[in-house]
Amino acid sequence: MAAEYQELKTENLVIVGSGPAGYTAAIYAARANLQPLLITGFQEGGIPGGQLMTTTFVENFPGFPNGVQGPELMDLIKAQSLRWGTKLIEEDATSIDLSQRPFSITTNSQKIKSNSLIIATGASANRLGVKNEKLFWSRGISACAICDGATPQFRKEELAVVGGGDSACEEAEYLTKYGSHVHLLVRSSKLRASAAMADRVKANSSITIHWDTELVEVLGDDWLQKLKVKQRKTNQENEIVAKGLFYAIGHTPNTSLLINQLDTDSKGYLITKPGRPETSLEGVYAAGDVADSEWRQGITAAGSGCKAALAAERWLTKNNLASLIERKDLEPSKAETSKKLETSNEENFDPSKIWQKGSYALRKLYHESQKPLFVIYTSTSCGPCHILKPQLNRVLKESNGKALGVEIDIEIDQEIAKQAEVSGTPTVHLFKNKELRKQWKGVKSRTEYKTALDQLIK
Ligand code: NDP
Repeated sequence: MAAEYQELKTENLVIVGSGPAGYTAAIYAARANLQPLLITGFQEGGIPGGQLMTTTFVENFPGFPNGVQGPELMDLIKAQSLRWGTKLIEEDATSIDLSQRPFSITTNSQKIKSNSLIIATGASANRLGVKNEKLFWSRGISACAICDGATPQFRKEELAVVGGGDSACEEAEYLTKYGSHVHLLVRSSKLRASAAMADRVKANSSITIHWDTELVEVLGDDWLQKLKVKQRKTNQENEIVAKGLFYAIGHTPNTSLLINQLDTDSKGYLITKPGRPETSLEGVYAAGDVADSEWRQGITAAGSGCKAALAAERWLTKNNLASLIERKDLEPSKAETSKKLETSNEENFDPSKIWQKGSYALRKLYHESQKPLFVIYTSTSCGPCHILKPQLNRVLKESNGKALGVEIDIEIDQEIAKQAEVSGTPTVHLFKNKELRKQWKGVKSRTEYKTALDQLIK
């Protein structure tokens, strides 16, 4: 069945992508009164917010002397762009047509026309495709140590990371908090990571680096148990016991929607004018990792987003295409940033509050409430949880108090997470009258949660 599209007016500028490049471009364009429309992406090309959403501490982004959590940094950049009037579509772009002006961009529910475009779609994490990989995906194998490391199945177990870059080193270090030992499988005889990161890993006695080692196959029963690896110099095969396996083997640029429309290099990265954001087509700009196979840092992505927005603004103005909004207030109201939720206890527990936190609230609502109950399992550093929580919150608000939600931090309430067989965050369970009606792993569209809930409250 063909999707029903809502026709919109022609936009000044559409930004595709919601990492530091996309949101920084949005800040600049919004402050130039262009009211940019930003398509955040949803499932294609990694999670909204980009790679910083699956990072722990970012210690090299200027302005945060003590470091900042990646997801928190993205929340702040996003809030800054919204404060100045950026419009958001929280869906994937499904097609981009640059053959006619204004350009056409289609999402799952909308068809948009725009005079200019910034492509900031980033790059997606690669997979290895070894034997049995699909079988053990989410049952031991994960693309995100930072999201899934705290899962009960990984606690005090041997774990492994593949890769030799900054991501692999960061993940190996992070996993030593949870696993009994971490094996780092490096295909060459050196680490590509920055010296500081590499030195930390080499000095950590909880990490064994297996040099010149290739992963051949993964083995197990209903959960991953062992890795078959090959020593590349001798071709000798060995087995390593591991209950968890994490890939950190680089990324591929998300340019599939632009094939044969814009110039790309042999690896698929968009080609721009040297040191500039212009792509091979006038009015189309690129920012961030989608056009950068070399630097790939949060700060370089943000810088390139700034350049792309300024270039788009100049081009729109030169061609008399900019339609500027007028601001009633010179100073927009303060940005909305998320507040920390207090854990419920005997004193502050409120049975009518739609969103609470912790085991006390879970016990009370599970046993005593007749209303459908969403239980969302999160962990502190889980970036995708930052995307999911506001979505679920909205679903609950729209139910007008007919359903409730409880957030469980799997690091604090390990036993509950174990009993619920949670194998990664975010996980969502939907209960009614103590019966599990539906469960989801990862972030799904808001409609999925809403439809499931509507069936229980109709
Ligand atoms: P990189 O491309 O830097 O590293 C990828 C690693 O995976 C390399 O060691 C590579 O090996 C290895 N690899 C690639 N393919 C395979 C394969 N098929 N089998 C086995 N190993 C493979 O990617 P990262 O994600 O680590 O980093 C991307 C960028 O993000 C970098 O610029 C990095 O500095 C930055 N970053 C910064 C962080 C921070 O500052 N906190 C944290 C994480 C990333 P080989 O070396 O042999 O090619």
